[in-house]
Amino acid sequence: MVDKISGNLTRKNAEAAQSGPATPYSFSMLYFEATRRCNLSCAMCMTGSNDKQRVRESKPKELTADEIYHRVLVPAKKLNTVAVVWSGGEFLVRRDAFELLRMATDLGMRSNVCSNCKKLNRKVLERIRDATDGRGTIAVGINALDDSNRETRDAEVDRTLEVLESCKELGLSRHVIVTLGKFNTDTFDKTVQYLVDNDISYNRAPFVPRGSGHGCWEAARFTREDLQDHFHPVLRAHVNGYVSYTPYFLAPEVHASISGGARSNTVPRNPSIGCWCGHWLTVNAEGDVSVCPVLVDSLSAGNVRDAPLDQLVNDSELFATITDRSKLKGKCGRCRYQYTCGGCRAMALYHNGDYMGEDPTCFFEPKDKTTVSEFEEETNRRFKQYTLIAACSGLYRRPDPKR
Ligand code: SF4
Ligand code: SF4
Repeated sequence: MVDKISGNLTRKNAEAAQSGPATPYSFSMLYFEATRRCNLSCAMCMTGSNDKQRVRESKPKELTADEIYHRVLVPAKKLNTVAVVWSGGEFLVRRDAFELLRMATDLGMRSNVCSNCKKLNRKVLERIRDATDGRGTIAVGINALDDSNRETRDAEVDRTLEVLESCKELGLSRHVIVTLGKFNTDTFDKTVQYLVDNDISYNRAPFVPRGSGHGCWEAARFTREDLQDHFHPVLRAHVNGYVSYTPYFLAPEVHASISGGARSNTVPRNPSIGCWCGHWLTVNAEGDVSVCPVLVDSLSAGNVRDAPLDQLVNDSELFATITDRSKLKGKCGRCRYQYTCGGCRAMALYHNGDYMGEDPTCFFEPKDKTTVSEFEEETNRRFKQYTLIAACSGLYRRPDPKR
């Protein structure tokens, strides 16, 4: 079945997949949790892969390769998606993992393979490189470089670093995801310094009460003070990761002039910054569609078995609302950075139950839209440096001065 689908992927089909009805959206990335199955058992796994019953229930409902191609990947092209982040559980436990990578490659999309590294030997890395025509990225999770990593991830950090080294030798791009919580307030600066020194891109993900995170949410979540004193100073000092964190104090007029006014609905693009809702979209193993990986089991725009991904998104009230930053409430709604930051929608939902509410972890207190952050100038400067890096990874294109 899978071979047949791959075999049918002609250039003509791929081109047809790109055309479609006009959409107000432009998603650079599709984050696809292709399975909840995993060969490790991380204590805080957000997909609940360490919950045997959850995994047992999910297995028969997992999207097949045929459904992934027709209901997810081809429609994702119509939403202007340029890259697929293949995640899990452990994506590589799927027997059709390499065929799925090939499908995305033949549709002209780049692939980022998220893995816990257990299966990533040299041979597997080479197969990933081949299936992505050399344009794949390996993304791994590291929450700390010392033994405390084991508190949140069931993986030896030395093994993860070894894999990153092999990727370098094989010419595969490397990326690290760092989950932020109480558990790494004191080590985050060292982790980021290591990544910067080794030229490895990274992004932060907030720890949330999704999946197995429910049980330790109160104890493990970071506070506003943790963000202000520990995480934010490190995030704003470096530009070799995606700018996908909040608060983000970029002057709206600076983004407007550098981006040429590009938007995904009302979310800034070219490059994307602040909260990434509206920049990426997420599908879970059973086919539910959402606005962000950490929100996927809580907020749904429908299931791809009922309608293809592009139709669900274009008709979705959830997407229309969350990507309309003029509707943000509380201090995010009266903030100068309402548009360029947007506040973390996951923090708003998980702390206060309203995904359009203010981000309660933000330490900025705007009186109204004239209040300027003391970090704005620094943010503007770093953002301009970031566009140079974003241009190399295809996330930024200098606007045409004639248009
Ligand atoms: S809700 Fe926005 S800021 Fe929060 S994790 Fe998701 S994309 Fe990032
Ligand atoms: S108040 Fe909201 S929009 Fe303003 S900086 Fe804080 S999180 Fe961002």
